[in-house]
Amino acid sequence: MTVSLPMCSVDFMDTSLSVEEQAISDRISELRQQLGEDLLILGHHYQRDSIVMHADFLGDSFMLSQMAAESKAKYIVFCGVHFMAESADILTSDDQHVILPNLRAGCSMADMATLSEVKVAWDEIIEQTGLGDPIGRPDPVALAAEGEAFLVPVTYMNSSADLKDFVGRHGGIVCTSTNASGALEWAFERAGPNGSVLFFPDQHLGRNTGAAMGIDEQHMPTWTPGIGAMGELSGSRIILWHGFCSVHKRFTVEQVEEFRSREPEGLVVVHPECPKATVDVSDANGSTQYIRNYVAQQAPGARIAIGTEINMVARLAQEHPDKHIECLDEEICPCSTMYMIHPAYLMDVLERIVDGEVPNKIEVSEAIQTGSLWALERMLSIKK
Ligand code: SF4
Repeated sequence: MTVSLPMCSVDFMDTSLSVEEQAISDRISELRQQLGEDLLILGHHYQRDSIVMHADFLGDSFMLSQMAAESKAKYIVFCGVHFMAESADILTSDDQHVILPNLRAGCSMADMATLSEVKVAWDEIIEQTGLGDPIGRPDPVALAAEGEAFLVPVTYMNSSADLKDFVGRHGGIVCTSTNASGALEWAFERAGPNGSVLFFPDQHLGRNTGAAMGIDEQHMPTWTPGIGAMGELSGSRIILWHGFCSVHKRFTVEQVEEFRSREPEGLVVVHPECPKATVDVSDANGSTQYIRNYVAQQAPGARIAIGTEINMVARLAQEHPDKHIECLDEEICPCSTMYMIHPAYLMDVLERIVDGEVPNKIEVSEAIQTGSLWALERMLSIKK
């Protein structure tokens, strides 16, 4: 196995556990056994190995939200970040408890769009373009087919529950990187041929998905709160919020060129949260699950550079010892907020559950459950 590891020092570089880490791991296993079917642990691909080894399911945000929706477990411990646990709470019943092992595990991208900023943008865009608001319109698809033009909101899963509620109430949909093109098609059907989509918070996922669907850059202006539109709003197809992922924006064209100069036969696969220029020079791009499948499909001996979070890249390298796998950015560190889920926090919440507590419970207020659920259920109905 050849693995190029990053320069930052983190525990995935050494998969053996210290005596203390082993004791924590053993205790987590005991607590899981005690809780039995009452407990479901969900782990995102970007979690460290010492968490993933205890997860009942490992997946991307789309798959994990499906798992949460289908689960009957009383306690769902979500080893991911805050917006994922919120979505799980919305999709589960009132007698199920969703728990985040560390309440500080947020997402810097999700923080880049607040409800008040989106409301201001929404009103200004409608005023400037004259597009209709689908709120309270019973059948926007039929109205759009008759020639009405709407502004339809699409939010990436990586957003707070109050934004998902706003989107649901305004006739929009949540998407993940797995089904972004399907969600956009769904939204375009409701916007009509002369309508537009407001996509937030990640400009790169919106731009890359739009470009793959044949929309040119000219018809995808960017919206920055406090500044407004960069580009022409009228006639636009997708208005892109200015947000980005601080991990994925680090992958560059220069890194791809450097890899290709060393590995002329090598393959590059990146996540669509990367800048479009990087996606354009890569061999393939897609969600975390897509990247996993892409790597699995390559022949033994393949040499692959991956542009996504390092815990997942290191795990893929371990799973495919017959292939050379490296991270596109040799200095990249893990997602700092995903990394806040430490095994000691997982052990602590499980101890407290066994003691009869419900610690670190994520509870989305009833006032914003309805619209969020509409937007999430629309998302779950779309596979690609
Ligand atoms: S990888 Fe990026 S988008 Fe994902 S949780 Fe971390 S900061 Fe947020």
